[in-house]
Amino acid sequence: MAEYMTSQKGKRKLCLGPFMFVKVSDGADNKEIWKCEIRTCNARVHTKNDIVTFEFGVHTHAPVHGKVAVTKARAEMKQRAKDTEEKTRQIVQHTLTQVSVQHANLLPQMSSLTRDVCRHRQRNGMNDNHVEEYNNTISGNTFIRIKEPDFILFAAQEDIDFLFSNQHWFADGTFRVTPEGFHQLYTIHSLCYGP
Ligand SMILES: [Zn+2]
Repeated sequence: MAEYMTSQKGKRKLCLGPFMFVKVSDGADNKEIWKCEIRTCNARVHTKNDIVTFEFGVHTHAPVHGKVAVTKARAEMKQRAKDTEEKTRQIVQHTLTQVSVQHANLLPQMSSLTRDVCRHRQRNGMNDNHVEEYNNTISGNTFIRIKEPDFILFAAQEDIDFLFSNQHWFADGTFRVTPEGFHQLYTIHSLCYGP
């Protein structure tokens, strides 16, 4: 039986050994015609009722072992991001366990996987960062200054005035304590020598 996967972009692909194929057209009697997903490659495959019936041409590129597994894991990751309420970190961890160690180099950095999950959730109207409640300070003044999918800047006007009026700033980031979906908490402090 032919094996398929759905790509991150929702496209059905045929997996044959280390190669992936995209559909060119439908033939008669449930026949499907596929071409190698590498644009410049002319390898073609025909399937009929999900059975490979013909293979044409020779791949003009080397196979990338593990690519199919990695592509599947990443597509599944996006699906989980969309369908489940699992924490971003859990989803990323799960994805990492789906890929064997010798193919781990084909995965992007963990930070970009996390970003993928967050972006996907935002696109689907889900976001596990409930930041709206921090829009304003308790006294009702603006607190969130910049809000991007993966970057939020918090500062009350008093904080900005404080930084402005002091000469020494200390900036530091931590990766250990961050809100869900974020990697680094970066703070800027300044030193005040008293009145
Ligand atoms: Zn090819």
